[in-house]
Amino acid sequence: MSANLTTEDLLRQATARLAGTVDMPRLEAELLLAHVLGVPRARLRSHPEDRPDDVARTRYASLIERRVSGEPLAYIVGEREFWSLPLAVSPAVLVPRPETELLVERALALHTAPTARVVDLGTGSGAIALALAHERPGWSITATDISQDALAVARANAERLGLQRIEFLHGSWFEPLAGRIFDLVLSNPPYVAADDPALLQPELGYEPSAALTPGPDALACLREIIAGAPEHLERGGWIVLEHGAQQAPLVARELVARGFTHVRSHRDLAGHERVTEAQWPAA
Ligand code: GLN
Repeated sequence: MSANLTTEDLLRQATARLAGTVDMPRLEAELLLAHVLGVPRARLRSHPEDRPDDVARTRYASLIERRVSGEPLAYIVGEREFWSLPLAVSPAVLVPRPETELLVERALALHTAPTARVVDLGTGSGAIALALAHERPGWSITATDISQDALAVARANAERLGLQRIEFLHGSWFEPLAGRIFDLVLSNPPYVAADDPALLQPELGYEPSAALTPGPDALACLREIIAGAPEHLERGGWIVLEHGAQQAPLVARELVARGFTHVRSHRDLAGHERVTEAQWPAA
């Protein structure tokens, strides 16, 4: 890139380079340049004639190439917004997805009391636990993860957002919760089968595979969580699970077989049944 390029020139070049790789090339070109320059995106629009220096131009070019190779934007800029909260993310955690906001919505709709004991199993970046802590300051929220690296990301997010009341515990699903009872059990576990061609998308290759796939049996983690939930649920409490687009009937069947009632699935914005909830019987 030559020395006299303006912000607008750089954005045009980068947009052309990203076209065909990402859905919204101009938007991503702007987000990456704003990140490199350390300015709000609006500044690029208001000052298209600025001339970023050599260091910035070189760094921008390298970030654009990382994005062209498929690295998720969220890892490159180190952040992703979830439930309007800016969450730090690293390759130790799954990038929070918009469909997971549906799980947060259902949790809020199902339990409206100002106090509740809630657990988020496999919290990753902390997205679900943090969104709920933000919405319901009176709830007691626990979050578990088998990955210490993920817990470090989640804890740092809690600190950065001033939502430090969350209890973070290390372990697999209910393992660190012996004897503990909750009103709400929530999880977005890995649910993509190891041989699902969806995993071949370049972006997913950058994410922790343990957060995406349980192995050959796509339902393995969902089943384990459903099996473990009754001994940790208050009578009348709820479980809310995210799952794959084709898995709602299978998850519902597991829940019914385990004795849950009021089983209901909800569609995400793409129209896929993505979240299933069920109640542990009241009596
Ligand atoms: N929704 C994610 C995807 O399809 C998967 C998340 C998960 O396995 N929990 O990329």
